[in-house]
Amino acid sequence: MKVLVAVKRVVDYNVKVRPKADGTGVDLANVKMSINPFCEIAVEEAVRLKEKGIASEVVAVSVGAQQCQEQLRTALALGADRAILVLTDDVMEPLAIAKCLKAVCDSESPEIILMGKQAIDGDNNQTGQMLGALTGFGQATFASEITIDGGNASVIREVDGGLQTVSLSLPAIVTSDLRLNEPRYASLPNIMKAKKKTLDTTTPADLGVDTSPRVTLVGVELPAERQAGIKVEDVAQLVDKLRNEAKVIS
Ligand code: AMP
Repeated sequence: MKVLVAVKRVVDYNVKVRPKADGTGVDLANVKMSINPFCEIAVEEAVRLKEKGIASEVVAVSVGAQQCQEQLRTALALGADRAILVLTDDVMEPLAIAKCLKAVCDSESPEIILMGKQAIDGDNNQTGQMLGALTGFGQATFASEITIDGGNASVIREVDGGLQTVSLSLPAIVTSDLRLNEPRYASLPNIMKAKKKTLDTTTPADLGVDTSPRVTLVGVELPAERQAGIKVEDVAQLVDKLRNEAKVIS
């Protein structure tokens, strides 16, 4: 069984992002970039499927600029067998990315496509769902447990107020939630080995994908700063402030 894992290069989750001075986007100059954390969880799950003897090959795929090779090499160091970069310098919307992934699915024919539930930069939470629509495959989003049994995947999903179990016939798309697993660290020997693994490059044009944008980014700004809180002396003062300052009680 072949597993395709979609890996996005994003600003590292520890970085406090700043908008550009003109508000046209996020300032990425000299900013640390990493694998999107939910994609890292998806890679870990794919590697575990291989270690259990369920998956025969794990292929990592990323859509983006040449630098995405770094994140693909990390995925290879974590245990993916080979990687594909869909090379583009264009700003890619989830629909364009999903179309590229669909074209890769057509040529690779994976039984499972593992993705993050969401990329922490754009917070779109769209690509897996769009890929589901384009391929016609079943999809389970927000997965916290995946069990493969023959031609089916049983997936426990994190939904509001509980867990939902769904069964999908393969091929299927599963997007990972935070509690699916705890990703391993790449060991130094595996980082070295990853340098020799195959990383193929293609382009959206090679895949016949139209990447023209449908959405215009109008502006990016920081949220308004919260005012510092104060400590009240007693209940009477609290009631007074709620009544006369916040005006939330009468
Ligand atoms: P999003 O819909 O942007 O929140 O992203 C959800 C998931 O789609 C990510 O966690 C990735 O698995 C996948 N994805 C999004 N953008 C890319 C990309 N440029 N390259 C590869 N996978 C991507």
